[in-house]
Amino acid sequence: MTKYFDTNYHYLVPELHRGQRFALASQRLFAEVDEAHDAGFAPKVTLTGPLTWLWLGKTKGQTQQAAFDRLTLLDSVLDVYVEVLNRLAKQGVAWVQLDEPALVQDLPLAWQQAYERAYHRLQAAPVKLMVATYFGALGDNLSLTARLPVAGLHVDAVRAPEQLEGVIDRLSPHQVLSVGIIDGRNVWRADLAVLRERLMPLKVRLGQRLWLAPSCSLLHVPVDLDAETELDDELKSWLAFARQKLDEVVTLTRLLDHRASPEDEARLAAATQALDARRASTRIHRPDVTRRLEQVHLADSQRGAAYSERAVAQRRKLALPLFPTTTIGSFPQTDAIRAARRAYKNAEITTAAYEAKMRDEIAYAVARQEALDIDMLVHGEAERNDMVEYFGEQLDGFAFTRFGWVQSYGSRCVKPPIIVGDVARPAPMTVRWSEYAQSLTDRPMKGMLTGPVTILQWSFVRDDQPRETTCKQIALALRDEVIDLERAGIGAIQVDEPALREGLPLRQGQWQAYLNWAVESFRLSVAGVDNATQIHTHMCYSEFNDIIGAIAALDADVITIETSRSDMELLEAFQDFAYPNDIGPGVYDIHTPNTPEVAWMVSLMEKALEKIPAERLWVNPDCGLKTRRWEEVEPALANMVAAAKELRARHG
Ligand code: GLN
Ligand code: ZN
Repeated sequence: MTKYFDTNYHYLVPELHRGQRFALASQRLFAEVDEAHDAGFAPKVTLTGPLTWLWLGKTKGQTQQAAFDRLTLLDSVLDVYVEVLNRLAKQGVAWVQLDEPALVQDLPLAWQQAYERAYHRLQAAPVKLMVATYFGALGDNLSLTARLPVAGLHVDAVRAPEQLEGVIDRLSPHQVLSVGIIDGRNVWRADLAVLRERLMPLKVRLGQRLWLAPSCSLLHVPVDLDAETELDDELKSWLAFARQKLDEVVTLTRLLDHRASPEDEARLAAATQALDARRASTRIHRPDVTRRLEQVHLADSQRGAAYSERAVAQRRKLALPLFPTTTIGSFPQTDAIRAARRAYKNAEITTAAYEAKMRDEIAYAVARQEALDIDMLVHGEAERNDMVEYFGEQLDGFAFTRFGWVQSYGSRCVKPPIIVGDVARPAPMTVRWSEYAQSLTDRPMKGMLTGPVTILQWSFVRDDQPRETTCKQIALALRDEVIDLERAGIGAIQVDEPALREGLPLRQGQWQAYLNWAVESFRLSVAGVDNATQIHTHMCYSEFNDIIGAIAALDADVITIETSRSDMELLEAFQDFAYPNDIGPGVYDIHTPNTPEVAWMVSLMEKALEKIPAERLWVNPDCGLKTRRWEEVEPALANMVAAAKELRARHG
């Protein structure tokens, strides 16, 4: 499974084999079309386009063989598309939309040419084709896209409003232009008056050939704002979920057609009023937060000394053995923990009772880790429902919906927080838990926070200021937490950034700008500590090769990463770059219930040792353990500790 472009929606990656042949194997689409017709609707059918489908596929097979060109499969893929289009035509379908968001990415020449070839072949199908692009600008694929022999084009005018002129200039006289004008990726209400102004000239030029639409599929936003009973009216007036966004599309269409109903006029006025209020609201625009960010200096994102010097101070303070063992933060979220949280949410138990229960869980996790002889402990994150929600709930500037679920994969959904306004930390968020955990043991306790980039990435972000600004506000709030943890006697603090890589823009040319502020945000959050305080970070599975410079620029004292499934191959990027700081390459895959063998973990670490010197290696699982059971965790960690001891005996 991989995330679809830069969304949090997952798809199963098609695995492609050399010489593979394709055949139509499902009737479901046709049954759904019949169902829509029976219900009295004439649907525009939407399919992933053939090139984007191939683009998202991965070649599979023996390593040597796997390196074949996916485009060799295109003809066979197109055979099936032709068959599907013909079937749809027979069912009476007039329009078929083929989603081709790959067109907003950097495409090799061969792929650009394949687009032309493919769509010339599909041209013969007896339906009208609409090629849909979204999530960004067509850029250097603009001319190519405009030349495709299709009846209509959809472009994203939210992410890339500047491209409209160029697209219209290249449109052929009969082509329809579907303008994605309502943001399908975010929850904010649209300024209908402003959009009407912007669209008026387009309407004059295109007449009936102008269609309006959301920028992309609405599966990336929650369904219905009206279902939210807990949000206050003011906040609600600033938002629009999928149903409201459809109303916006319809209202805008009628406004442009000069056939607006009184209801449409009321909607227009309400939108203007709500947006004026939002712009002026002191509830979300806080001078103290703005001022603090303005006063940030370069030095604020710099540790007091270079890693080599810090490492000496940390070694002295933490007194860890060679190949220190640790975990990534969470221990099993048991039924008992969930039950306690539920009871607390439903006000069936008091805050005091809930906190006492969480302290018991922390004490249990600490005792287990001591018994296992782990070197650097964690408190176990029992109190956290979710690694972003937990922090969002305690920060100013965040709002939470009751039913704002967004599909993540299949029946799995996530409920992202909404970052409404300036972010600030009214009070410490994790200090009491870490402090309590540390009080139970003489071993170093690692504090545990979610990083600014990950909090940003996994939330709906406000659209009235740059993402960079919001990220840095979060970073400053976390900075206070990091400093408070240090003051409370926590000598190591981990700031998780699993979402760092997935925040990369879709175009490589924009990567560096993103990485600059993402890295700076991370550094702002951690750089306030003493040299002797050890900063950790954690990332899940990532291709590190092309962002290794940014990873190094984070300047975390220790980074733990998910490497076990790649057989330590990921470490090559760190070796090639001569990555200078400590690394904990996960020695076992927490996503399986199996107990990893000692010898296996030792052999993985021996591979790591070929690339990284012993003094800079840690021994840890590859991710948090919250999804596992204690019965699985204990034998696995016992073996992991035994592996570390074996390594010390060999290399100490
Ligand atoms: N500290 C978190 C945990 O252990 C990290 C989770 C993650 O990597 N996504 O659960
Ligand atoms: Zn992870």
